[in-house]
Amino acid sequence: MENKVILISIDGMRPDGLMGCGNPYIQKLLSESSYTLSASTVFPSVTLPCHMSMFHSVRPERHGTTTNTYMPQVRPIAGIFEALKQYGKTCCMYYGWEPLRNIGRPGSLVTSRYISAYSEAHVDGLLTDAAFEYISAKKPDFCFLYLVDTDEIGGHDNGWMTDAYLGCISYAIDCAKRMIEAFGDEYTVIITADHGGHDRSHGTDSPEDMTIPMIFRGKRFTPARELDGVSILDIAPTVADIIGVPPAREWEGRSLANKE
Ligand SMILES: [Zn+2]
Repeated sequence: MENKVILISIDGMRPDGLMGCGNPYIQKLLSESSYTLSASTVFPSVTLPCHMSMFHSVRPERHGTTTNTYMPQVRPIAGIFEALKQYGKTCCMYYGWEPLRNIGRPGSLVTSRYISAYSEAHVDGLLTDAAFEYISAKKPDFCFLYLVDTDEIGGHDNGWMTDAYLGCISYAIDCAKRMIEAFGDEYTVIITADHGGHDRSHGTDSPEDMTIPMIFRGKRFTPARELDGVSILDIAPTVADIIGVPPAREWEGRSLANKE
């Protein structure tokens, strides 16, 4: 296996939603992965601040984006894309919510594809198709696949933990399964979320909003091991460690990968 990573963010996926969605692949996935059902995201539990923290390993008060309106960083920190680019690694991104374009700086990606969540009924499958095609052809070092339907259609339109919400998670897990079955020998696959949710909303500091699952399947992770005390800030150092580049000095999280 090469030192490559596919990071899949399923927007708004709660741990109990993951475990309750009924997708039969989940037990197999967890048996092959190190995972936690009790990782913490950052406050506010909102999409852009949380993804900025996922990629830059600092809290929103440090990166400066505290709402879904991007704020240029006052004291800029390299994110995952910039840290990898600096060492000549290739990165790509497939995303269904347009403001996420700001989690990387111009010039840090070899390709990206945005498909609007508002123009298609379900975009998660289309995004997965696009990422699948590019990875097959080019084998980039890092692919970020952001799946939007669980939050948009599942949570906001129908309500967290409704059948519609759980159905979107199950579909997203099928997308992750496609990636693992095709690329799981070459890539470590990380599956997580930016935040949870409750009723038809999120953004508070309640456990329903702040608790997220994380699944790590790859050669540097012990199968069927449950991880403790994990934060969304640990994602960027973990990705950098697997791919073999140093973390940015400012990053506050730690790598969760086993030592080589
Ligand atoms: Zn979100």
